[in-house]
Amino acid sequence: MTALLEVEDLRVAYGKIEAVKGISFKVDAGEVVTLIGTNGAGKTTTLRTLSGLLKPVGGQIRFGGKSLKKVPAHQIVSLGLAHSPEGRHIFPRMTIEDNLRLGAFLRSDRPGIDRDIQRAYDLFPILGERRKQAAGTLSGGEQQMLAMGRALMSQPKLLMLDEPSMGLSPIMMQKIMATIAELKSQGTTILLVEQNAQAALSLADHGHVMEVGNIVLSGSGQDLLHDESVRKAYLGED
Ligand code: ATP
Repeated sequence: MTALLEVEDLRVAYGKIEAVKGISFKVDAGEVVTLIGTNGAGKTTTLRTLSGLLKPVGGQIRFGGKSLKKVPAHQIVSLGLAHSPEGRHIFPRMTIEDNLRLGAFLRSDRPGIDRDIQRAYDLFPILGERRKQAAGTLSGGEQQMLAMGRALMSQPKLLMLDEPSMGLSPIMMQKIMATIAELKSQGTTILLVEQNAQAALSLADHGHVMEVGNIVLSGSGQDLLHDESVRKAYLGED
């Protein structure tokens, strides 16, 4: 079976600085795969490249067996790849519901859109309670929920989440991680970028550790969670 996403020897540069130096990994349908690593390792650059926002200088990206090399960013969403970016990028003056509707901008099936908005409210009840309020009135964690809900509105085959736990309280972080687990149980395929290695590896099928543009270690979430070097470097153990 071909993987849903195949990344092969991917290289991405900002001018002369190579931020991603030839990484390879794959994501099978139904899996949660996580990229972990410290600041500047190249995780965000990888996701932005998969979304078509950055052009690689080398390597291959195949999604559903098809090369994304010549596909422009706006068409990548229509192929089924959705990105919930770092820092969220919600529209603060628009209502919560309108922010969700924006995520469905490529769809015209009104009943389906309404059903998926309801699904977002089932997943995150706070969004439903406050649907008519400006999104800027939400807390950081609630805005993260909105960004995830909006990404889901495009009915993605692959949902990419960039640091969904960033800046959240421990309780809010647990809630977001529980939601990711719930999405997985519903069959959503997820590529998760996280600095919180413990949380990400606990729910991931596979994980890859990135350091300065390279994948230095790969394994099942559980194996990496118990790997001594990972525990020392990323889980704060001596
Ligand atoms: P973070 O958690 O901080 O987002 P990351 O693993 O996602 O870290 P990237 O944001 O992908 O890392 O950054 C990888 C490298 O590329 C870093 O050295 C960073 O300074 C550099 N970089 C990122 N964006 C740019 C840019 N727009 N121009 C130049 N260099 C950049």
